[in-house]
Amino acid sequence: MAAILRKYVVVGGGVGGGYAAREFVKLGLQPGELTIFSGEQAAPYERPALSKAYMFPDSPARLPGFHVCVGSGGEKQLPEWYAEKGIELKLDTKIVKADVENKTVTTDKGDVYQYGTLLVATGSTFLNLEDFKTPGADAKGIFYLRDVRDADKLVEAIKSRKGDEALVVGGGYIGLELAACLTVNNIKVTMVFPDPCFMPRLFTPELASFYEGYYEGKGVNIIKGTSVTAFEKDADGYVTKAILKDGRSLDSSLVVVGIGAKPLLTPFKGLLEEDKGGFKVDSTFKTSVPDVYAIGDVATFPMKMYGESRRVEHVDHARKSAMQAVQAIKAAEKGEVVDDYDYLPFFYSRSFDLSWQFYGDNVGETVIWGREGAGAPGSKFGAYWVKDNKVMGAFLEGGSPDENKLIAKVAREQPTVDTKEDLVSAGLGFASKI
Ligand code: FAD
Ligand code: NDP
Repeated sequence: MAAILRKYVVVGGGVGGGYAAREFVKLGLQPGELTIFSGEQAAPYERPALSKAYMFPDSPARLPGFHVCVGSGGEKQLPEWYAEKGIELKLDTKIVKADVENKTVTTDKGDVYQYGTLLVATGSTFLNLEDFKTPGADAKGIFYLRDVRDADKLVEAIKSRKGDEALVVGGGYIGLELAACLTVNNIKVTMVFPDPCFMPRLFTPELASFYEGYYEGKGVNIIKGTSVTAFEKDADGYVTKAILKDGRSLDSSLVVVGIGAKPLLTPFKGLLEEDKGGFKVDSTFKTSVPDVYAIGDVATFPMKMYGESRRVEHVDHARKSAMQAVQAIKAAEKGEVVDDYDYLPFFYSRSFDLSWQFYGDNVGETVIWGREGAGAPGSKFGAYWVKDNKVMGAFLEGGSPDENKLIAKVAREQPTVDTKEDLVSAGLGFASKI
């Protein structure tokens, strides 16, 4: 069978794929030049909605409400948008084979596409307790969350649940956001995770203590420092109980697991050079192979600000890396080059009435301000990370858009500070003077 020729092929129709499509259109795309393959049935959407408003009991978010690029204030790209622009959006179609010498990719339906330039945007998948051989992890009633199909299954389970109790395994992003969603659905939640506090990769125990206290105030039972070693199930295969490493057992007919993600490298594994678990790219997201780019969760890129390469599993980078790669591709066609990707890390989360943002690098000493009054109406609290007298990272709970811009500026400019006390007493005032 003859290969179908395309100037550009994007493998992955998630956040990165959707923002790449917009950038191609913005910079000039002829009908028939671009094909996007997606393993999902839905056109690219803003994945963060799934662990937040999608789970609300009242007026939940549903597609087509959150297709990209609404998450960054852009136009909502419905499937018709792709058709109007002459973009072939092949949904429910996985690329199962790649040949980077002959520049072809093969779909699970057997079609072969030959590309001029390839963009790999395959994202991540969740770590599964079955991969860790946890006995009983195949029971019905145990849920994971990555895409809209997973979200629909969880919504259905919440609606038709047998009991009013749920277990959340993991104390990271999914664990925290889903524990809140289940709680607002009137489900009594117990969280179990091996770490000493919520989100230990970003939070310090002191910072985490505010969120832990807030969750407990909402009725969430938090069990730290242990993990699930097995699940028990009934005769129909439904989960009934989780057995913990410390010997305890918890009754639960609904379990949500969020124990981390792994980048989806197949079918490009072995074809592209890897670094730190992702595909190694340069500051324009070009991989080790000519005419192949990788963006979003799968890309390990030079983090210019910190002089080292990193992989980032967050939406802001998925959007920006897509734009940078497409700008670089289009510039190269004209013999031009783009500026290096100069990314300022930005992570955020929302749950209950809480909303935090973090910018920069969480290295050095953490200085927390406003902690005593945290949670009181109108109060603010936050943190700065200080290394070698320079402020490297900034965190703010409950900030307004303008206040969040202030902490972003601090993290970008890395101002020097004389004493830690200055930061504690100035709080957000320190950021406003930068
Ligand atoms: P994805 O958006 O995951 O898209 C990858 C796409 O590629 C998928 O559609 C997949 O089906 C497809 N694909 C994979 N392999 C193939 C193949 N072989 N052939 C064809 N298609 C393929 N980040 C934040 O910063 N803030 C948040 O609040 C936030 N919330 C999140 C909530 C949830 C529930 C999840 C799962 C993630 C969240 N993230 C959040 C992380 C953020 O969504 C990801 O970092 C981002 O989606 C990565 O974009 P991507 O394009 O690399 O991959
Ligand atoms: P995270 O890496 O954020 O958190 C996983 C947590 O589970 C970690 O605290 C980890 O501990 C813990 N853990 C690991 N193994 C076990 C175990 N066996 N039992 C219990 N806990 C365990 O991953 P998530 O699953 O929360 O998120 C998946 C992906 O989705 C990530 O890419 C994340 O960035 C993204 N996401 C981002 C959001 C946001 O930015 N707001 C929201 C939702 C998802 P340890 O650190 O010790 O390994």
